Amino acid sequence: MCQLCHNVNHAKILELDVCSNVKKIPKTLINLKSLICDNANIVDIPNTLVNLEDLNCPNTSICMIPDTLINLKYLICDNTNITDIPNTLVNLEELHCPNTSICMIPDTLINLKYLNIVNTWVSSIPDTLIELEWLYFNDTYVSSIPDTLVNLKYLNCANTGVKSIPDTLVNLDTYYYN
Ligand SMILES: [Zn+2]
Repeated sequence: MCQLCHNVNHAKILELDVCSNVKKIPKTLINLKSLICDNANIVDIPNTLVNLEDLNCPNTSICMIPDTLINLKYLICDNTNITDIPNTLVNLEELHCPNTSICMIPDTLINLKYLNIVNTWVSSIPDTLIELEWLYFNDTYVSSIPDTLVNLKYLNCANTGVKSIPDTLVNLDTYYYN
């Protein structure tokens, strides 16, 4: 049981932790800042949740992230049917989307500090992501690392085509590759 099952006054909820009984997220929750719905039986996220900063929806049947969620900072959508990340999510700081069919990361996500695209169809990392500190892309089609990612501290590119690491990545203290 969760707050939605108890039918509380939705307008005042800032953080919502949804249980598996919930089949639909109400589109009236326009003040919601945080939505946690991992393993829920939901298939979509309403495009009206424009104040959302934190969306945690792994292991659901969601197939799209609305491009209206422009205040999102944290997006966790592992093991979903999502194939695209909207290029409007310019405030994103953390993106976790391993085990999806995503094939591209938009070059507009310039505030990303953490990116996990393990076991996706992605084949390149945009050279505009210069704030990145943690990057996980093992088991992808990526074969090179942009030399502009000078803030990287952690890198995992095992089981990819990467053959060398740019010597401009002077802050890198942990890395794994082939
Ligand atoms: Zn519930």
